[in-house]
Amino acid sequence: VVPWPDQPIPGLLCGYTVRHSEGHSEPPFASLNLSWKTGDAKSAVFANRRLVERKLGISDRAVIGGRLTHGDTIVVFGRSLPVPFITRGFDDWPVFDGDAAVSDIPGLVLVMTYADCVPIVLYDPARPAIALVHAGWRGTALQIASKAAAALNRTFSADLSQVRAYIGPSIGGCCYEVGQDVHERLCGAYGARTSLFTEHGRVALDEANRQDLLAAGLFKSNIEVSGLCTSCRTDLFFSHRREHGATGRFGVFVGLI
Ligand SMILES: [Zn+2]
Repeated sequence: VVPWPDQPIPGLLCGYTVRHSEGHSEPPFASLNLSWKTGDAKSAVFANRRLVERKLGISDRAVIGGRLTHGDTIVVFGRSLPVPFITRGFDDWPVFDGDAAVSDIPGLVLVMTYADCVPIVLYDPARPAIALVHAGWRGTALQIASKAAAALNRTFSADLSQVRAYIGPSIGGCCYEVGQDVHERLCGAYGARTSLFTEHGRVALDEANRQDLLAAGLFKSNIEVSGLCTSCRTDLFFSHRREHGATGRFGVFVGLI
């Protein structure tokens, strides 16, 4: 587990997993694959999850995962709010249905799994509160990052000028070629002449999400971008695009402890 930020914040647990550690999955899922959705053996995935939980020092009961809707649904976990709908499965992480979640509940660790899509963590130091976002091209076009920031503000009164953001490893502008339809959708949201479109019809989704967070009111100096490309760095990450779908998922974890 690689922690964020480099200088740990007391009370914040946050980090992403890398694939080639001591995981239990066989190729093409080798080795620390955290999702069984792409065909890996559940026993290996569950063993990998227990391994990560031990590394993080958390119990499985504290972890809640996100099940993607490929929309802009943001699920709210609040200390004084009704509990959202959660699906529980044997040995599996309980899951919420949504592409983002916000929380101010101590001891609750949010996790989502990725292979090219953009992971975004938001941290409001005042309450404190957190958000975890999964932004593929659809979520990016729907500006889900700024919507998650707005949810932090609306639900937990977060001052967005104080919120810190981390945009994690994702497929970079070096590798992410998109078709006309995706290009048009992103142009609709961000404008045609922005810095997120590179040559050969490629798009920097991390830059799009950075611009989205700036527009939401976050300060430039409070946004950190990993810059690691999942497609260039399959030594560290799973890449859906680079590995033609036959691959696993790495995890991004964030929780208040
Ligand atoms: Zn790349």
